[in-house]
Amino acid sequence: MPGFELFGDKERQQLNDVLDSGVLMRYGFDGMRNGHWKALELEKVLAQKMQVKHAQLVSSGTAALTVALASAGVGAGDEVIMPTFTFVASFESILAIGAVPILVDVDDTLALDPQAVENAVTERTKVVMPVHMCGSMADLKALKAICEKHRLLLLEDACQAIGGTFENKPLGSYGDLGCFSFDYVKTVTCGEGGAVITNNDLYKTNADHYSDHGHDHVGKDRGAESHPFLGYNFRISELHAAVGLAQIARLDEFLAIQKKNYTILREAIKDLPNVSFRRVPEGGEESYAFLNFFMPDAEKAKKAHTELGKAGVDACFYWYDNNWHYYREWEHLIEKRSLGRLPKEVYEQLPDYSKSDFSASDKWVGRTVSCLVKLGWSESECKERAAKMVSVISGI
Ligand SMILES: *Cc1c(COP(=O)(O)O)cnc(C)c1O
Repeated sequence: MPGFELFGDKERQQLNDVLDSGVLMRYGFDGMRNGHWKALELEKVLAQKMQVKHAQLVSSGTAALTVALASAGVGAGDEVIMPTFTFVASFESILAIGAVPILVDVDDTLALDPQAVENAVTERTKVVMPVHMCGSMADLKALKAICEKHRLLLLEDACQAIGGTFENKPLGSYGDLGCFSFDYVKTVTCGEGGAVITNNDLYKTNADHYSDHGHDHVGKDRGAESHPFLGYNFRISELHAAVGLAQIARLDEFLAIQKKNYTILREAIKDLPNVSFRRVPEGGEESYAFLNFFMPDAEKAKKAHTELGKAGVDACFYWYDNNWHYYREWEHLIEKRSLGRLPKEVYEQLPDYSKSDFSASDKWVGRTVSCLVKLGWSESECKERAAKMVSVISGI
């Protein structure tokens, strides 16, 4: 997955364009920039690649989620449905605007279970936020139907699945809003960065203003711009956008490498009697950023993970015990531990997650081993790795 494995001359050249002009900010300073508008350019390329009308770059994927929610008018006390298996950014971005994260089970897709989502909808629900973890997606068709039925927004977190598709649409473009991260370990990296994509003109305008202190960006002198509503600073810098421009130009190349390496590994282990694979919903194609597989039970999955590590098969994860990605270790959320006081709505409405039953998630995540698919492997390295995986897994 990490795009940084393949940094080169193009990234350097893009960065030098910015350094030569000296304008590191994405707005203003028109006369000094030598025509370089890297963030604006990257937004155009990204929107085109993702087949949507608009992209808004921001400072991180977490910021993208917050900006997406804010731009759609989500606020204090609104409930946002999110999965138990994700990254902490999901609930952080929701809490940041005073909304309430409602955790819901995942199924054998390792993403939101549509039936569990339906069961969790209340009068306060505003958004369903599926997270396309480890390169594959939630059943977006089923989730969209639920959203239409209850008039909810569908916000896709596609941070780990850029380049995957559902019904031939790029992941992130199927719902009302989609978010990407360009942090250092993602398929496309800017160092730090993120983006919101949408076909909705109002959400785009709101995201544009909100991510820059509410500035209306009408093209006047920055100091003379007005502020139609309160915002914050979630801006990306020109330096980061420049790196992203070089990287996005290589997305198809990265995806082809990911798929090739993924296929070598999958073909090698697919007939082992103790291995099965996560379900990819009908109509979906993975981004192939990770190879995820189920072992017969949690004990065997844990063992496989440990033994793979010992055999030198690095970058495999046992998410069930991971404190970034799975609800079981989110003590700070469960205990409502914040530096200052939480908004009243959050404090009062946040479910008591110490008492929740997420055994349906445990059943699938407990059996899951996820191996990162790297871009930098040579074919022989990849085959060697596949052979090691076969030998370790078949011994368990
Ligand atoms: C990386 C990631 C994010 C957040 O992105 P940052 O750019 O690191 O803030 C959000 N969701 C998922 C699923 C991620 O993997």
